[in-house]
Amino acid sequence: MDRSLLEARFGKKFVALIDDSPLLQRDLRALARLKCRVRRWNGKHAAYSKTDINDRRNALIVIGSKGTPLDKVLQFAHEAYHVLKGFTPSYPDPKMMSRAQYLASSIAEETRAVMHEARVAEELYDKGYLVPARHLRTLVELHRGGYSAIKAEVESSMASISNESYRDTYGRYYDQHVAALERKRLHRLEARKVVCSA
Ligand SMILES: [Zn+2]
Repeated sequence: MDRSLLEARFGKKFVALIDDSPLLQRDLRALARLKCRVRRWNGKHAAYSKTDINDRRNALIVIGSKGTPLDKVLQFAHEAYHVLKGFTPSYPDPKMMSRAQYLASSIAEETRAVMHEARVAEELYDKGYLVPARHLRTLVELHRGGYSAIKAEVESSMASISNESYRDTYGRYYDQHVAALERKRLHRLEARKVVCSA
């Protein structure tokens, strides 16, 4: 992921903001080593990422085209955490991980991503950038109450893409994923039955 590509997709200010955050510069180097792809999502004010925690190479970060360069850079910081340090499997195996464990892991990872985002916001604030109030509120929470305060905020806040709580979103994802696995298992059993009776 080179700078000219980031500049072409997100503009000069985006790259200048990265240059003013030592944490983001470190993230950028790590993402480049993993050959992480970064895409623009036209017309959206949201971001997401995809990574395999067992092999982080070729991960993907997608950032919406709407929003200020600072919004985008903070979204980038958030998704960079998921890609570089995330620890929740994208496809939980119900034999290895219960629904409660998956929820706890998802919320813990989201908390860490929000903390990383807040630390980048702090670096930019210290450099004199105008940081929106909601980010400063999170930063104050982080200084006051640390991990548990941010976790409480994550648990009560809404997921960025849908209008549900994180707990609802991750819970539903786990249920859908497990139901799909169960359907696949039944298909395999039926296929075997057909083979056996043939
Ligand atoms: Zn996140």
